Amino acid sequence: MPMGAEEIAVSELSDEQAAAELARLAKEIAGHDDRYYREDAPVISDAAYDALRRRNDEIETRFPSLVRADSPSGSVGATPSEKFSKVRHGVPMLSLGNAFDKGDVHEFVQRIRRFLNLGEDVQVDLTAEPKIDGLSISLRYEGGKLVQAATRGDGSEGENVTANVRTIADIPNVVTGDGFPDVFEVRGEIYMSHKDFALLNEKQSQSGGKVFANPRNAAAGSLRQLDAAITASRPLRFFAYSWGEVGELPAQTQWGVLEAFASWGFPVNDLTRLCHSVEDLIAHHGEIEARRASLGYDIDGVVYKVNRLDYQARLGFVSRSPRWAVAHKFPAEKATTVLEDIEIQVGRTGALTPVARLKPVTVGGVVVSNATLHNEDEIERKDIRIGDTVIVQRAGDVIPQVLAVLPELRPADSTAFVFPDVCPACGSHAARDINEKTGKSDVVRRCTGGLICPAQRVERLKHFVSRNAFDIEGLGDKVIQEFYDDGLIQSAADIFTLEERDRSSLKKFKDREGWGETSARNLFAAIDARRRIGLDRFIFALGIRHAGETTARTLARAYGSADGFIEAMQAASDREGEAYGDLDNIDGIGQTVADALVEFFAEPHNVDVVRDLLDQIEIEALEAVDTSSPVSGQTIVFTGSLERMTRDEAKAMAERLGGKVAGSVSKKTDLVVAGPGAGSKLKKATELGVEVIDEDAWFQRVGAD
Ligand code: AMP
Repeated sequence: MPMGAEEIAVSELSDEQAAAELARLAKEIAGHDDRYYREDAPVISDAAYDALRRRNDEIETRFPSLVRADSPSGSVGATPSEKFSKVRHGVPMLSLGNAFDKGDVHEFVQRIRRFLNLGEDVQVDLTAEPKIDGLSISLRYEGGKLVQAATRGDGSEGENVTANVRTIADIPNVVTGDGFPDVFEVRGEIYMSHKDFALLNEKQSQSGGKVFANPRNAAAGSLRQLDAAITASRPLRFFAYSWGEVGELPAQTQWGVLEAFASWGFPVNDLTRLCHSVEDLIAHHGEIEARRASLGYDIDGVVYKVNRLDYQARLGFVSRSPRWAVAHKFPAEKATTVLEDIEIQVGRTGALTPVARLKPVTVGGVVVSNATLHNEDEIERKDIRIGDTVIVQRAGDVIPQVLAVLPELRPADSTAFVFPDVCPACGSHAARDINEKTGKSDVVRRCTGGLICPAQRVERLKHFVSRNAFDIEGLGDKVIQEFYDDGLIQSAADIFTLEERDRSSLKKFKDREGWGETSARNLFAAIDARRRIGLDRFIFALGIRHAGETTARTLARAYGSADGFIEAMQAASDREGEAYGDLDNIDGIGQTVADALVEFFAEPHNVDVVRDLLDQIEIEALEAVDTSSPVSGQTIVFTGSLERMTRDEAKAMAERLGGKVAGSVSKKTDLVVAGPGAGSKLKKATELGVEVIDEDAWFQRVGAD
């Protein structure tokens, strides 16, 4: 009787037997998953189940071309997905602004004082704690039990990694102590210690597995495993430092909440201090920096947070970072090396940027072989020449830069660098604009080739898929460049037709060099995941000059839909007309931005590109604003002097409540909030019959009294 394939060692299997085995295992494992997860009634032991999965993995490794679409290796538990399922964060997970020196920290605290209108005599307490270099996670507890864990993802939507997080010993599955709200989300950092990282890499290299570049990558790679058993075998650690949705907070201060977290069984970093002044903060920063090398885990700065939570609420957010927190990075590290060449890169708006190619040198633990030289004036000022020995500096995640030249080491035959006046990518003339206001020439030289310049086109695409734009996983700079060169992707819409075109193509994507069935499938899934996108990200992704993230958000709020936005921008090409006036009148949109927007949409090719893209995707209106508030959707003008809040605070508050703040009164204005001393705006409002209220009435209306 022939032997059943299940009894044959993996190394002995023929192609046919392997395929049959994979089919059998897929079915069997899915059956056990169902029994375990859906029916809570497993029929085999955990060890026997693990053995089935292991055999499946081994066969897949030996026969990668036979991996099935329904392979159990692509699923965790009962949710068979190619990737993790998505979790929408009720409260977004954001970034932090940076401070690099004492001056920045002073300015940060001064900004808070100005915003809240606090005098110098009012003490502003802040917490200071290490900024852990790992990956952030949001842990949701209901009735004291861990019910969900999600990664930050793009900030609004992360990945559901609950099964994996349950295996981390530092994270309680059930909280201890009492006084915790029925529902709360603890946020913090998952990281790996230096020691565990070294051990893991050693093990990985012995077994021929993936060797990680640094502890952060190792932590991220270990957490995002489709098989939670692998995560369980990796020594991940955790520190709690903030929160998302919470029923009722256990304290009125940042410090108090951290204390509560500790009492519920969460690890809180014991280098956290409560500071009472900028001097305190700086002193603590110095202490942490001195201990950095012996901590046993990576940190890249110290995070300061306003202690009073009522202040935090009033301060709110600017773009993607809270106004009430900042990351004070450690000072830059320096090294000396030889500058071997100067290359000119062309950016998405045509800017020619000189880049130094360096003899590779280690700066603060990272090998650096490129550094920015900023612009031609900077090269001239520092007299940087090819062949020079230079000092390079690197600070945190900032691009390394060339600080200075060591002239005594300069080769005798060296000559000054001549900046090109033609674009290296398309040969068009490259010119420096003259600033109309100052009459001076701009520091940046730009290619005038516009859309004929391949470098500008490809840079636009790179920007389009970048982290704060469409954020398409697996579609980084290198891949974009490769696809562009091969003619696969020429414009943004092409990204979204990639899979469809692949289906009818003879040269299949999965057969490309460096790609396979799984990676192709993952890329298509990552693209699909972005077919719905927020209007603000969409506008930012277009890469219009001067339209950064904050501007994009302001525009999204003001125009509400992609069509509304595009039509308004086209109508605004008449600079005397109403549409241009409306655009210019939006608080935060200056003339430079307005002109850049109009110019972009006056170019028919740009409009075609945007329209083609819109055929492929769906735009969501801006989220996270309060649509239930009485001022949601209204255009509001603040005028006169306000006494209970500063102008900045008023604006932030109105926007948080879904209102749009305008700089002047027109017939589109819904509400004017006038304080003492209001003049022409109040008069105009009265003439136009616009509703006018005072500051107290404003507080009453929005229910903040
Ligand atoms: P960034 O992504 O550089 O803007 O920095 C924000 C990130 O810093 C957060 O998403 C966290 O992952 C991380 N982080 C590390 N330690 C802390 C901390 N103590 N407080 C707040 N964020 C932290």
